Amino acid sequence: MELADELVKLHTLQKIDAQMYQREQALKALNTGEALKAEAIALLKRADIAKAAWQKAAAALKDRELELKGVEAKRAAVHDKLYGGRVTNPKELGDLQKDEEMIDHQIGVLEEQVLELMDAAEAARQVEDDLANKVSDAKHKWKHTVEHTAAETARLQKELAVLRPQRAAAAAVVDKGLLRRYDDIRSRREGYGLAITDNDTCTQCHMKLNPLLIDQLRIGEELTFCDSCGRILARSRAQA
Ligand SMILES: [Zn+2]
Repeated sequence: MELADELVKLHTLQKIDAQMYQREQALKALNTGEALKAEAIALLKRADIAKAAWQKAAAALKDRELELKGVEAKRAAVHDKLYGGRVTNPKELGDLQKDEEMIDHQIGVLEEQVLELMDAAEAARQVEDDLANKVSDAKHKWKHTVEHTAAETARLQKELAVLRPQRAAAAAVVDKGLLRRYDDIRSRREGYGLAITDNDTCTQCHMKLNPLLIDQLRIGEELTFCDSCGRILARSRAQA
């Protein structure tokens, strides 16, 4: 085999391998949406709890409002009796007056409680609202991510399906022994088994090559490996 020719074929192969590697890495890096799903579920649980809290607060408010209405009705009845002219007994009138004062106090307390419960119900509603919005956002993000990942997976798989036979054809013409070594290095070195030199530097690991290696490359009689990253070295055509 003529080494220089073999290296040219290997370089052609590596260009295809680089495209495949880039797509394989992109596939691995795609977001599955699992974390977003978990986030949406956690928010949904919190939203359910917040909704229950709001409903409880709203029910408590309604109960107290009904209680207030009842006491107000009672007050109106006492008031009518007191000023309606039918009761004339001073003792009875005095008792009615005391009743009215007591009821007024009760109404004051209840009104204050109603206001507090209104605030509490409004705050609970706000919390529930915020969480419902967050749930909606999280679901949307999750759905979008899953859709994006599915589309990207399909696109990358399609491109890989085109590259695979190209790779097979390019690999078929490379010397078998050289191909094995190249594939072995490639599997350990981020998809790249071959490195082109540029200004006596390995373009893959960017280390300066030692002068012995540079001489060996220039002579071009034996396979040369980068002493830093271990990749097969080839001189660029411009240097050849
Ligand atoms: Zn290197």
